[in-house]
Amino acid sequence: MSNDTSVEKVIIVGSGPAGWTAAIYAARANLQPLVFAGRPKTAPSLMLPGGQLMLTTEVENYPGFPEGITGPILMSHFERQAVRFGTRIVTDKGLNPDVSNPDDGHSYSYHDCMRVDLSQRPFVVAGEDDTEYRAHTLVIATGATANWLGLENEQRLARTGGGVSACAVCDGALPAFRDKVLAVVGGGDSAIEEATYLTKFASKVCIIHRRDELRASKIMASRAIENPKIEILWNKVVVDVLGEDFISGIRLKDTKTNEESTVEVGGLFAAIGHTPATEFLVGQLELDDKKYIKLSDMYGSRTSVDGVFAAGDCVDSVYRQAITAAAMGCKAAIDAERWLAEQGVD
Ligand code: NAP
Repeated sequence: MSNDTSVEKVIIVGSGPAGWTAAIYAARANLQPLVFAGRPKTAPSLMLPGGQLMLTTEVENYPGFPEGITGPILMSHFERQAVRFGTRIVTDKGLNPDVSNPDDGHSYSYHDCMRVDLSQRPFVVAGEDDTEYRAHTLVIATGATANWLGLENEQRLARTGGGVSACAVCDGALPAFRDKVLAVVGGGDSAIEEATYLTKFASKVCIIHRRDELRASKIMASRAIENPKIEILWNKVVVDVLGEDFISGIRLKDTKTNEESTVEVGGLFAAIGHTPATEFLVGQLELDDKKYIKLSDMYGSRTSVDGVFAAGDCVDSVYRQAITAAAMGCKAAIDAERWLAEQGVD
C-alpha cells in the first residue's frame, strides 16, 4: 500500500465518546486523524456533535468525575483532548484545528459525512460540499439516536434539562427525580428495565403503553407487572408534556376511546427504541436487521470490510453507555493503527 500523503491514514466519522476517544488514541499514535463531527439536527431527530451526552445535564456515572459533570462539558473535554494531539475536524472553514469548545458555536460549522465508498481502496468519504477525502482506514462511530415521541414540549424540556430524558440509567438517579411519580413511555424490554431501575428513586413509576400487551419478554413483563411501585397505563399515548421550566404532568389519550386525561408526573423517560445512524452505510458494509453495524470479531472493532472499524452505539444496542462507547473507540483506534502497520503504512 502506498504512503501517498494525500490519503488520510484514518478518517473518523462521529463525535460522541467513541469518536473522540478513537481520535485521541489515533492522534497520539501520530495518525493525524480527520474527524467528521456532524452538523447539529433538530427535532424530531435531535442529533448534536458530541452525541447523546449533549442532551444530558448531569453525568454522574462517568468515572473520574466524583462530583459529576455536565454532558456538554464532558464532551468538550473529549474534543479538546483530541485536538490537542493533532486531530483535525472538517468544518465550514476547512480542516480547522483551532476548535476547542463545542459550546462556543464552532460546532455549528462541523460537517456531516454524506457518503462513503468502501468498495475501493483507499476508501472514499464525501463531505457536505461533495469534497471527496480518501483514507486508508475508517472508524465509524456515528452512534444511535434515541427515538422520541416528537412532541414540541417534549423536545423543549429534553433540551433544557426540564425532566424529560431518553435514558433512565443516565439521568434517573438525579436529585430532581427523587421521590417523584415518574412516567416511562414504551412497552419493550427497555421500558421495563428503565421503569424497574427508576423504582429505586421514584415514589411510583407509570409505564405508558399504547397497546394492551407488552412487547417485552415474558420474564421482564412479569417483573414489571408484579412490582408494587409500577403501574401500567394500557392503551395510552402521550399527546402533550406539561410544565414551563420543569415537567409537571403529561396529557394522555386513550387509543381505544380517544378520551384524554392528565397525569401529574415529575419526570418523563422515553423508552421507545433507538435508531443507529448508519443509513449512509447501507450496501457498503454488513448491518444487522435493525441496521446496527455487525462486527466480525467479538472483542474487537473489525467490520465486514477490511480496514473499516466501528465503535460505540452504532454497534452496540445493549450497553449504550458513554464509558462503553469510549472503550470501543479506543479499541477501534488501536485496531486501525495495527492494521496500518500490517499494510506497511507509516
Ligand atoms: P423495542 O423492543 O423496539 O420496543 C419499543 C417499544 O416502544 C414498543 O413497545 C413500542 O410499542 C413502543 N413505541 C415505539 N414507538 C412508539 C411511539 N411513537 N409511541 C409510543 N410507543 C412507541 O425497543 P427496546 O425496548 O429499546 O428494545 C430494543 C432491543 O434491545 C430489543 O431487542 C430488546 O429485547 C433489547 N433489550 C433487552 C434488554 C434486556 O434483555 N435486559 C433490555 C433492553 C433492551 P409497540 O409494542 O406497540 O410496538
